[in-house]
Amino acid sequence: GREEISSPKRTKEIIAAHGFSFKKSLGQNFLIDQNILNKIVDAAALDESTGALEIGPGIGALTERLAQTAGAVTAVEIDQRLIPILQKVLSPYPHVKIRHADVLKVDLHELFSEDFGEVSKVSVVANLPYYVTTPILMKLLEEKLPLANIVVMIQKEVAERMAASPGGKDYGSLSIAVQYYSEPELICTVPHTVFIPQPNVESAVIRLKVRERPPVEVKDEKHFFEVVRASFTQRRKTISNNLKARFFPKEGRERLEALLAEAGIEPSRRGETLSLAEYARLSDVLLEAGH
Ligand code: SAM
Repeated sequence: GREEISSPKRTKEIIAAHGFSFKKSLGQNFLIDQNILNKIVDAAALDESTGALEIGPGIGALTERLAQTAGAVTAVEIDQRLIPILQKVLSPYPHVKIRHADVLKVDLHELFSEDFGEVSKVSVVANLPYYVTTPILMKLLEEKLPLANIVVMIQKEVAERMAASPGGKDYGSLSIAVQYYSEPELICTVPHTVFIPQPNVESAVIRLKVRERPPVEVKDEKHFFEVVRASFTQRRKTISNNLKARFFPKEGRERLEALLAEAGIEPSRRGETLSLAEYARLSDVLLEAGH
């Protein structure tokens, strides 16, 4: 048989044969390392009865691996120039569907019912374009899709923020949002050398095990996330100062401090020290009090 798409030799051949040129603005850094591909695919724990949604297949390095393990594969690629290449190199795999679209504009519920009707569960597996990592992951999580795992290569720094615990410099509204919907786990860090062209940042593979229900119950999710975001407006300020500016601009501080006390939170604490459960309580107390 032929060499894998991801082998450096075959990757260069495909690129040369189609006169393809990389677009930095689309985050095009293609994987050429079998070990890293193995780690990504293993972390997704796919089998014949599961589906895989890939975002940004490039020339199909990871798609080929997914095709060899999952029962149904859909790959969404924004770059029109890659579509004929993908159709050609993936022609040995009829259960792979290539969609030309911007993933941020796709109706994912419709895509799921069209492409994954036959499989028992679906995981997202991708080497993401780094310029849109957060919007893509938040869309996947917020839309409450029937997802098992999300296994993605992203910027190392962003992976660390997603997986961070309260108290550290990496912990922020992104950690809370991701952990509300999933259980993040860092799989491995990845050197620059496994890509062509090589990105300027360090990378990591992270797995988000999607929760069936959130770990805390809140009266109003939108309000909960507003409280979280407001609490981190200025990282060096106390929770009391950040919340005052956003929720109590015209009132005295006593009211806010009484509500913080009711939620069991010292006003001198900083946003980065509060757990998910504390934010949930705080959001409910503020909401009940009309803020
Ligand atoms: N999966 C391939 C690999 O690992 O070699 C390519 C990964 S590359 C980091 C990211 C890919 O995402 C590129 O092919 C790029 O064109 C595509 N892409 C960028 N923005 C996109 C978007 N909004 N929707 C879908 N695909 C996108």
